[in-house]
Amino acid sequence: MEQTRVLGVRVDCVDMDAALHRIESFVDEGGRHLVATVNPEFVMRAADDREFARVLESAALCLADGSGVVWAARRQGCSLAGPVTGVDLIPPLAAHCAKRGFRLFLLGAAPGVADELARRLQAQNPGLHVAAHFGSPDPSADQETLARLAAERPHVLLVAYGAPKQELWIDRMGDQLPGVAVAIGVGGAFDYLTGRVPRAPRWMRRVGMEWLFRLAQQPWRIRRMAVLPAYAVRVLRAHS
Ligand code: UDP
Repeated sequence: MEQTRVLGVRVDCVDMDAALHRIESFVDEGGRHLVATVNPEFVMRAADDREFARVLESAALCLADGSGVVWAARRQGCSLAGPVTGVDLIPPLAAHCAKRGFRLFLLGAAPGVADELARRLQAQNPGLHVAAHFGSPDPSADQETLARLAAERPHVLLVAYGAPKQELWIDRMGDQLPGVAVAIGVGGAFDYLTGRVPRAPRWMRRVGMEWLFRLAQQPWRIRRMAVLPAYAVRVLRAHS
């Protein structure tokens, strides 16, 4: 099975290697491609937000980000070894970019965070062309962000504004992103990769309990996570 739908939202049944391969071929093809990292909060939001649902539908690749989406996708026959998260995708993607000569741009997070991650990725991948800017999803910041992007002309753009702002921003930019072949919404990935926010231990991620760790670290997430039980119930009802 190549792809499935979780409560109407498309999820591509691809693991990390296949995701990297698809991203590479998007750059080779040219044109503009949105890559979304779909988690249960995305799915629940898309049910009530037609604009977000439309943008997700326009994505070239919808990765299963989070065990809740992997669980739902597997129930429908999708064979996935596990989630493909933005945090896990970025280091091998940077290595691919270095190898293929693709320029990478990190946009978003608090001032200094993307710069620090760019320095780390550069140190890990000599020869990588990587630039960064914190930017903002607010239209008042568009001019400066577009000027910085025009100076770099990245092939791959990672946008860390959180969902749905990052996907809506990429969609709003349309054809204005100079040279960008792939734009990926990566949520809080820059904060994790620079160690600003600790990540759940591997065993917790493996048993699908990462949400509990995130809640303990960032209790303000409770409002966003409140949709998770309803998500589980809807998936069980829809695909029983
Ligand atoms: N962020 C930003 N500008 C904004 C709102 C958020 O750069 O106007 C960044 C924020 O600093 C964080 C990321 O977007 O790095 C959102 O992280 P979160 O973990 O909330 O996203 P999720 O992965 O849950 O979508």
